[in-house]
Amino acid sequence: MKKLLSIILAVILALALGALAEDGKITSTGVGQGIDGDVKVQVVADATTIYSVEVLEQNETPGIGSVAVEQLPGQIVEANSILVDSISGATVTSEAIKTAVRQALEDGGLDVSVFEVEQAAAEVAEKTPETLDCDVVIVGAGGAGLTAAVRANQAGAKVLVLEKMSFVGGNSLKASGGMNAAGTKFQAALDITDSGVREFVEDTMNGGHMVNDLALVVTMSENSSDAVDWLESIGAPLPKVAATGGTVHKYLHSPEDGSPVGAYLVAKLNEEVEKQGIQVMLNTKATEILMDGGCAVGVKAEDAEHEYTINAKAVILATGGFGSNFELMTSFNPSLANAVTTNHPGATGDGILMAEAVGAATVDMDRIQLHPTVYQETSTLVSEKMRSLGSILVNQEGKRFCNDLSTRDAVSAAELEQTGGYAYIIFDQNLVDQNKSAKEYISKGMTSTGETYAELAKNMGLEGDAVAAFEETMATWNEAVASGEDKEFGRNNGMDADLSTAPYYAIKIAPGIHHTMGGIKIDTATQVLDTDGNVIPGLYAAGETTGGVHGGNRIGGNAVCDFVVFGRIAGANAAAYAEAFALQPAA
Ligand code: ADP
Repeated sequence: MKKLLSIILAVILALALGALAEDGKITSTGVGQGIDGDVKVQVVADATTIYSVEVLEQNETPGIGSVAVEQLPGQIVEANSILVDSISGATVTSEAIKTAVRQALEDGGLDVSVFEVEQAAAEVAEKTPETLDCDVVIVGAGGAGLTAAVRANQAGAKVLVLEKMSFVGGNSLKASGGMNAAGTKFQAALDITDSGVREFVEDTMNGGHMVNDLALVVTMSENSSDAVDWLESIGAPLPKVAATGGTVHKYLHSPEDGSPVGAYLVAKLNEEVEKQGIQVMLNTKATEILMDGGCAVGVKAEDAEHEYTINAKAVILATGGFGSNFELMTSFNPSLANAVTTNHPGATGDGILMAEAVGAATVDMDRIQLHPTVYQETSTLVSEKMRSLGSILVNQEGKRFCNDLSTRDAVSAAELEQTGGYAYIIFDQNLVDQNKSAKEYISKGMTSTGETYAELAKNMGLEGDAVAAFEETMATWNEAVASGEDKEFGRNNGMDADLSTAPYYAIKIAPGIHHTMGGIKIDTATQVLDTDGNVIPGLYAAGETTGGVHGGNRIGGNAVCDFVVFGRIAGANAAAYAEAFALQPAA
């Protein structure tokens, strides 16, 4: 009888512990907190071995967190440990998975310490040297690199792309607004006739305080419509058009379904790269440009096991900016030491440093852009598109304090003068219905909300007179939208819809490092120039790694235009150079 009782108790215990199988294996689930909600995993393990880890639920950022979702479970099983390295660039998701696995093991009644074995430090074995040959090597698989890769391959070159992170997309993946372009068929279809190439050049120059390289700005503007057509030809149309910050003109092109432009374009470009069979080497970092007789002839690169010598006829640097390299940024602007950054961790300026090492000139390196609407707790950028669609900014006193859609530097400076150096971006349900990013901010828990303006104000933490001041601000703003005139601050765009549809929302924001305008000096053919102004043959650069296009301040939507236009030019020209190079008689 006693024995029977103990068997029954053992079975109950086993059931309580979560499907304890006869062989001692448990199947148990656990949950960790990811970037965007819970990450739920199912673990099969026994007292000594983790047999499988499966992610059951997650909503992580495609292309970043999703990389950890794909790779980390296998690594945990292989190492039989939860103390595996996080996936670079996807630390939050990695930690969420590890927490969830730990919880599953604990809830399954297993001794977790058995699986907390530090991995032996990777043997510092000699890396294997390997030599690869191609026509065009492209360093960086962000927007500029992927665009250049597709274009160079279309021009017949054998292309190799190196990407140091475990995912493609870089900062481009995070671009949330749209792509500026002028004279496009999409503008024509919407009868937008006052936002052409000339206006685009003027707005870009004015936004950049006339510091920009005019020839590069004209090239970008003149080629922007073709770039939009080319994107459509690879299955990435951008048919919606709105105004962007710092301009009254409507150039900002975005996807039909309101998706953030960066993730949309990176996915489409990457699909095209795969379709064309272009080789992309992930987790492979370029370290040096190879030179021969003053010409760039390849790069040195490395991954965990190899040291590569990559011989190429032309090199394209598409390594992005340096908004995550605080040492480099503060060497130009010490006041940035404590700022948050919206940049991905790979934005460390490698291309600029490699180019300088072979004599390249740089421009505007001290021009570092603060974006005015960054949610500081998670360094999440709140898209400028929100203001283009009608949001406004208010301070802790419940009042507007500037033309909310002025240039980024002007709005950031105005915000820093407010109480506490922060502000709130206000929007309504009507705006949420039109914009995927807004829905995401709500689901990520970034917003305060209220059924009335007063309720919202209280939930934002406004006190005393500020609540009534906020109600008055909203009424005044809605009247300004109705009359089309912002008497207080002269805002003249993003006024197509008022903010009168409950519920109402607010996100607390402050400026954060966003874009490094400076970088490698190039000419309009994307050839890299040396410190004497001469072309370095065989060396091209495009995208945020270059300087001059945006001058002293980039206007919203121009980073995407920059990477598509100059990525295409670099791809075409590097391919043509490689072909000409191949025709030269051997020395
Ligand atoms: P852009 O908009 O100019 O394309 P991104 O930031 O989108 O800039 O992309 C730059 C890409 O270059 C990123 O994916 C980044 O990880 C990659 N990268 C930066 N430095 C190196 C390097 N040394 N080797 C390989 N890839 C690099």
